[in-house]
Amino acid sequence: MQHFSCDYCGRTIPNSSRRFEVKMEVYASNEATMLQESDLESFDPLEELEDTLAEQLPITTFQKMRYDLCPSCHERFLADPLGRDLTRKFDFSEN
Ligand SMILES: [Zn+2]
Repeated sequence: MQHFSCDYCGRTIPNSSRRFEVKMEVYASNEATMLQESDLESFDPLEELEDTLAEQLPITTFQKMRYDLCPSCHERFLADPLGRDLTRKFDFSEN
């Protein structure tokens, strides 16, 4: 059985507990030649190497991230997705 741990607090998420997934895609939104996900799948490095050598590889500006969150961190994430409230104290007891 696969076990998940929260990417935020590091605690193991019990299988009986809810697990939340966060998927983020970060890319330069003003690039003329946007790379679609379908392009990534069909991307053949060997075949397209010659073509792409001359131009910048747009793939470097595209990042896809995925995180697992426990229920409490899920709530915390939704309350402050970008972590702007740096002054907020988390009520975790250190142990
Ligand atoms: Zn957590």
